[in-house]
Amino acid sequence: MSRTVGVSDLALRLPQEHDITIMAHENPDGDAVGCVVALMLMAQKLGVAHRVYLPGDTPISPEYSFLPGLEDIERGEFPKLHSNTSVYIMDSASASRLDISILKCAGDCINIDHHQDNDGYGTLNLVDPTAASTTQILFNIFRAGDLPIDATIGTALYLGLVTDTGRFQYSNTTPEAHRMAAYLQEAGVDVNRVFSLVYERTPLPKTRLLGIALDRLTLRLDGALAASSLSAADFEAAGADERHTEGIIDELRRIEGVRVAAFVRERVSDEGTQQKVSLRSTDGSVDVAAIAHLEGGGGHVRAAGFTADGDAESVIAWLEREVRTRL
Ligand code: 5GP
Ligand code: MN
Repeated sequence: MSRTVGVSDLALRLPQEHDITIMAHENPDGDAVGCVVALMLMAQKLGVAHRVYLPGDTPISPEYSFLPGLEDIERGEFPKLHSNTSVYIMDSASASRLDISILKCAGDCINIDHHQDNDGYGTLNLVDPTAASTTQILFNIFRAGDLPIDATIGTALYLGLVTDTGRFQYSNTTPEAHRMAAYLQEAGVDVNRVFSLVYERTPLPKTRLLGIALDRLTLRLDGALAASSLSAADFEAAGADERHTEGIIDELRRIEGVRVAAFVRERVSDEGTQQKVSLRSTDGSVDVAAIAHLEGGGGHVRAAGFTADGDAESVIAWLEREVRTRL
């Protein structure tokens, strides 16, 4: 059974919960981390028993390490759930980016997300593609229930908002997003402190990795497609890992004349070598989610991704063909 719920349904439900599990998608970004921390702190305030879990083993980016409670987040194998726990899953478009055993939970699985391609995998689904971030949906739930948003919870909510809107510059930056920021600032969030902590502490390996990626940049299709790739050896040379790739795609996208940016990086695991691909469309005229879907990935019209077999050059050649037919 799967049904749609509204902000006020969850606002009523949350304070009445006895035991909840809080989670978000693997390789967590600022929105995913902001969501789990904000809900964890709110559960604490409401006296709701809770545990927090993030699938996968990609460490949480150091930029977000200033948030409280990160040490309480369980990683690795999915924990055994109490039979009646409600699982709150945030910012995850599909169950494929989660540990699959979670769907076996006996209690409700509550899917809270803003991805337009969310497949409604929850038993209860609150999906709002007009929300700039999933923390915005959480904010709306808290507000609807008159639940107390202090400066610390506000900071976690703000983190998701500021990162998912590209510091209030992307096309998802609505008046609503600005109103939420204003509310949070009045609640005590120090926006300049968040800026300093998130954006002004670049680790040297990240800058080195960016240098290699820019060196490897090629422009194709008369400059409409910007592509770059990083191999496992590049990561090693820079002393970097996946966490340090955030933002590289934005450098490719911002080049004049580029309509699609593609950033491919090698991932070596027990299952072999694969290529993780990030795609961006500058003006939305090329639907990059449609391209990602062809390879089993997903995302939004302007930002999508997938994982593929093969070497980076063949993945980029395939992308070039797919983008060419869509220009
Ligand atoms: P990013 O390039 O920042 O990793 O991801 C951009 C967008 O594409 C995000 O909204 C993310 O949800 C989506 N995305 C990235 N990789 C995958 C993937 O492997 N599968 C799916 N379904 N979506 C992805
Ligand atoms: Mn998000």
